[in-house]
Amino acid sequence: MSTSTPAKAAIDWRARATEARIDGRCLIGGKRVDAAEQFEKRSPIDGRVLGAIARGGNVEIDAAVASARVAFSDGRWAHKPPAARKRVLQRFAELILVHREELALLETLDMGKPIRYALSVDVASTASCIQWYAEAIDKVYDEIAPTGRNALALITREPMGVIGAIVPWNYPMIMASWKLGPALATGNSVVLKPSEKSPLTALRLAEIALEAGLPEGVFNVVPGFGHEAGEALALHPGVDAIGFTGSTRVGRKMLEYSSRSNLKRVFNELGGKSAFVVFPDFDDLDRCAQTLAGSIFFNQGESCNAPSRLFVHESIADDFAKKLAAEAPKYQPADPLDAKTVMGALVDETQLRTVMGYIESGSAEGASVLAGGRQARSETGGYYVEPTIFDGVRNDMKIAREEIFGPVLSMIRFKDEADAVRMANDSAYGLQASVWSSHIDRAHRVARALHAGTVHVNQYDEDDITVPFGGVKQSGNGRDKSLHAFEKYTELKTTWLRING
Ligand code: NAD
Repeated sequence: MSTSTPAKAAIDWRARATEARIDGRCLIGGKRVDAAEQFEKRSPIDGRVLGAIARGGNVEIDAAVASARVAFSDGRWAHKPPAARKRVLQRFAELILVHREELALLETLDMGKPIRYALSVDVASTASCIQWYAEAIDKVYDEIAPTGRNALALITREPMGVIGAIVPWNYPMIMASWKLGPALATGNSVVLKPSEKSPLTALRLAEIALEAGLPEGVFNVVPGFGHEAGEALALHPGVDAIGFTGSTRVGRKMLEYSSRSNLKRVFNELGGKSAFVVFPDFDDLDRCAQTLAGSIFFNQGESCNAPSRLFVHESIADDFAKKLAAEAPKYQPADPLDAKTVMGALVDETQLRTVMGYIESGSAEGASVLAGGRQARSETGGYYVEPTIFDGVRNDMKIAREEIFGPVLSMIRFKDEADAVRMANDSAYGLQASVWSSHIDRAHRVARALHAGTVHVNQYDEDDITVPFGGVKQSGNGRDKSLHAFEKYTELKTTWLRING
């Protein structure tokens, strides 16, 4: 008699997709509510209409902020003992995993990423982020300042109140969880405005949070467009802080909205044009090329930290180009609902046009296409682009300066270390960078010289919720993840107590 467990039947995601529940209504005060207007949402996989989504505006944002304010002020969440908040968030994380297949399917249908990664990366990271902040709740202590003996000065971290979270479409659930985890753990209430391009999982997360026992009104979601719901939330005088992730262009607006309203705190996590610097002394160029291809083409290149500028020493550039060209076809886009697919669809037709426009500009400016360069799978009605590599790029070309946010790599040759560092730092952005060298002196020297929030040495894929994530220069000013994220969602308060000796 065999003791092995029978293999689990493969999931038929295509069949499940036809039955997926699409509910695009707002979630305010613990209830699903219609907005005055709706818009039609298409799936990037095949262009088919998924359903109607609430087109939130001033009215819905007012209602959500009012609900979040009441929930904050009456202490139904903020005044709960930390251990009680912890239990609710732990349950929230568990339920995310219980609903993992449904959430992954919605993410894939909404924004086109491969289902295998929606499950193994997006759902898994979202659950572990919430779990991590749940566990952290009662492990952060307040302080007593070293003052004279006749008084005691307590330094405590207080929740800010109502947090407006505005997030992009590339990792909809993960980006939401990076705001929700620390904001909820510290007792705030949240109004989340997901991207109009991928609102579905944020709405399901809010329902799941209610199921886990999060009190009504603590976590509200209003879908809608940036210039409508987003602007209304960022300008709202009842919002104490904005946790924004998105483009540098809109990040600038967040600062303007704050100055035009109540000077709410603004934490910006913005775009990137990350440099990947390869020296000839690195002893495993095959692994280096594989890591680069895996990182630039992951999530269709729609990652803020995608290493989109390769700087490679001229003595190994031709050889390295061959290695990269051999990697690219492995990422040919395919059906996102097929569990074997590693690259899916771009989020919408606008993004497809933007990416193809950059590819045309690269050729027009004199760079040569080493791999890809064309639209793919147009017969499906979806929005696919081949994994694309440009050789012969100069750092002043448009494809090297602007964030493309698609599967496009620019290869730039350098002469020496100083040249590499100068060009890598010659960018408006400073989110991430990496250096590849087998000499510890050089690796360390260059890592120190690169201006970025995170620098990787001889790798690009390590990641952990315990480390801060964010950029310098026009890549932003805050840090998501790690205990440092608590700094965004709390205010320091000093309380003096007189002690008569
Ligand atoms: P985006 O700036 O267009 O939109 C982000 C969010 O802001 C969306 O919810 C959108 O509706 C809203 N928005 C747009 N215009 C607005 C306005 N006028 N007022 C208020 N809200 C507005 O960005 P996107 O295209 O959704 O996402 C891609 C960008 O996000 C890229 O630049 C990427 O690098 C960046 N990103 C950064 C990080 C990070 O952690 N640094 C992570 C993921 C994505």
